[in-house]
Amino acid sequence: MKEKQHMELSVGAIQYLWRQRLNMEQKREQQKEKDKAFLRKYRLRLRMEILLLLGNKCSNPNCLVPNGCMDSRCLQIDHVNGGGAKEIRKFHCGASFYLRVIDKIKSGSKDYQLLCANCNWIKRVENGEIRT
Ligand SMILES: [Zn+2]
Repeated sequence: MKEKQHMELSVGAIQYLWRQRLNMEQKREQQKEKDKAFLRKYRLRLRMEILLLLGNKCSNPNCLVPNGCMDSRCLQIDHVNGGGAKEIRKFHCGASFYLRVIDKIKSGSKDYQLLCANCNWIKRVENGEIRT
C-alpha cells in the first residue's frame, strides 16, 4: 500500500516536471519569437536610416526609372567598389552590418550608395560578379 502511494506520487511528480519542462520550452520559444520580431524591426529601422543618409534614391544617373527609383522596397545598399556580399557575410547579422555602414557614412565614407534592384543587378553583371 505504502509502495503504491509512493509510485503514484512519482508519476505525479514526473507529470508535473514534464509539464514544467514543456512550459519552459514554450516560454523559451515565445521569447525567441519576440527577440526575432524585435531584431526584424530594429534592422528595418537601421535600413531606413541608411536609405535616408544616402539620399533615398537610386544613384545611377542612367536608372531606368525616370528621375531615379525612390521606392524603398527596391533600393539596395551597394558597396561602390564591390565586395558588399563578402562584407555582409563577415558580419553574420544584418543589424551589425547596418550599424557599421551607418558609422562609416556618418564619418564621411563614400563607400556606399543606393542602387535600385535593376541597377544593382546590371552593375553586378557588368562587373562579372554574376554570370547570366
Ligand atoms: Zn536604378
